Amino acid sequence: MDTTKVLLVKYGEIALRGKNRRMFQKQLTRDLQRRLEELGGYRIVLEDGRFVIERSGSASGEMEYESVLSCVRTTLGIVGFCPCTRTRELSLENIIRLVLDYIRDNYNDFACSFKVETKRANKLFPVRSYDVSAAVGEAVLNSFPPSRVDVHNPDVVLNIEIRHSAYIYSKVVPGLGGLPAGSSGRGVLLLSGGIDSPVAGFMMAKRGLALEAVYFNSPPFTSERALQKVLDIAHKIAGYSGYIKLHVVPFTDIQTYLYESVPREKLTIFMKRAMLKIAGILADRCEAKCVVTGDSLGQVASQTIEAISAIDASCSITILRPLAGLDKHEIISIAQKIGTYEISVRPFEDCCTIFVAKHPEIRPKVHIIERMEAKLEFLPEKVRAAADAAYAHVFLYGSSRAEL
Ligand code: ATP
Ligand code: MG
Repeated sequence: MDTTKVLLVKYGEIALRGKNRRMFQKQLTRDLQRRLEELGGYRIVLEDGRFVIERSGSASGEMEYESVLSCVRTTLGIVGFCPCTRTRELSLENIIRLVLDYIRDNYNDFACSFKVETKRANKLFPVRSYDVSAAVGEAVLNSFPPSRVDVHNPDVVLNIEIRHSAYIYSKVVPGLGGLPAGSSGRGVLLLSGGIDSPVAGFMMAKRGLALEAVYFNSPPFTSERALQKVLDIAHKIAGYSGYIKLHVVPFTDIQTYLYESVPREKLTIFMKRAMLKIAGILADRCEAKCVVTGDSLGQVASQTIEAISAIDASCSITILRPLAGLDKHEIISIAQKIGTYEISVRPFEDCCTIFVAKHPEIRPKVHIIERMEAKLEFLPEKVRAAADAAYAHVFLYGSSRAEL
């Protein structure tokens, strides 16, 4: 009998995408293919309107689900992976045999309740779904006597799909959902070594945003190890987004200039405005259409709605704050799931905490800030110089390289 182990890939939202669907499928295929390249011996094919991962023609041996899953599980845009057996010989007898073999392969004993669910997309197959389910159910009961049928609350659902081939599966390994990496354009992520911004980056990557990250580096106030922390975080996020370019911007000169020039309680607002101006320049250069930050409303003084407004007024680019409505414990729980939390809590200083005032202003007025900023005559040239002096690291899936 011709049977093959394959991994069926179920995607969620792209199915809804009408005209853009093909573009989304292409992006997803490319992402899966790149991940599988690292493993070798596998390919992804579009079969019967589904993505199927299978051994490539020349490769020998059966599919190894564990290693394939560890490679592709972090792919964005996928709702689930189904380890599955496929046959190209379409007959009821063959499908019954396929199901019985599948159970023997996947369950030690089959002393449980089950239900058979058949989808017959291929109407040339002469037996109706209901009759396939009934015939398979009977054969399972006969071959595995302790099992029983429960159509309402079964322990196991045996799914049979009859298309040009027939597929059987009963387990779904959940995927991350969202949209394929890079399918929603490009954004600049302000990435600090803290807990929040990595989560913000992940959440927007999950909505299909390709990320260029920016880190404002303030040596000697912040150390090499603080930078290393951000590099490690970018590396981690690239495991999901597939590709991240991290721009490291020298920020010390601007920070000390502002420290000497503006009232202490307003310093954070000016610093954040300078960060956004630089991010705006870098966004223009890489054709990014938005800036993403890890602000959460009310978390600290610079995150009141007045402070956020005063900061946003510094540039015209769209600013996304995906964490605005989340509590800290909700953010931490996502950080733990995506693996950035343990890096973020390494105890190294951040450029903002070093310069932060004891009593920062929480309700700044935009027009006052702007009037004061207009008097900072060296700021525009320092902003441009900082953007020009940025250098980048590129992270691709699991590997990284430095780039000037
Ligand atoms: P995080 O945990 O992300 O550091 P936070 O709660 O510490 O955030 P702030 O330090 O006020 O809050 O920073 C707010 C946002 O500003 C961050 O989420 C990040 O997007 C951006 N940001 C702050 N410092 C830097 C930096 N040194 N480099 C790049 N972005 C930064
Ligand atoms: Mg921070």
